[in-house]
Amino acid sequence: MRVLHLGLLLLLSPQPALAGCLIALDIGHYRKSPGETSARGIPELEFNAALAHEASRQLHQAAIPSLVINTEGDMAELAARPRQAAQKGASLLLSIHHDSVQDQYKTTWVWQGLERAHSEVFSGFGLFVSARNPALSESILVAEAMADHLLGQGLRPSLHHALPDAGENRILLDRNRGLYRFDELAVLRQASMPAVLIEAGIIVNKDDEPLIASEPFRAAPPSTRVAA
Ligand SMILES: [Zn+2]
Repeated sequence: MRVLHLGLLLLLSPQPALAGCLIALDIGHYRKSPGETSARGIPELEFNAALAHEASRQLHQAAIPSLVINTEGDMAELAARPRQAAQKGASLLLSIHHDSVQDQYKTTWVWQGLERAHSEVFSGFGLFVSARNPALSESILVAEAMADHLLGQGLRPSLHHALPDAGENRILLDRNRGLYRFDELAVLRQASMPAVLIEAGIIVNKDDEPLIASEPFRAAPPSTRVAA
């Protein structure tokens, strides 16, 4: 696992074709309910915010308009995210998350004097689309391009959401790309534009966490951005 960057939309089509696009980057979760907890005790919200802001910087450098949703981390209502994306005229919604695993795969360790849960059973990214989104086929195209780019960076998908475990059983649309269908995801199904949710990495994996939190993971150097 080396480099992740979300300037990935450059890969979808020649840059001029993206001139009229506006990409909404949604920071998953909010302060009072900050999502999963990393192996070192850091809330998912912090990872989501850092990656969304880095993706926004990358897109800005590439002259692709974007906006960040939930910048203050106070957006409690899920429907408000796609609603704001629509109000701003976004042509694509990317909801940015970081992943965990079911409790039966976790064990504990002591980090900085505190006992924390961790699991190294699974590693990698996941991408989700909803068949209840009105632009499912475009959502899949975006997700496929994102996956192909991540694969090209040496990253690998995690397929644990498709396991027959309580809380999982998601439909795998494409196992090579870690692409799942999850119709009920509110941010995706309530979006009027194509929408993809990315689980960028598994932060409860204590080996992966430092990589996921690293600058190179969040941003590829510009010289490599259009090369893939
Ligand atoms: Zn999340």
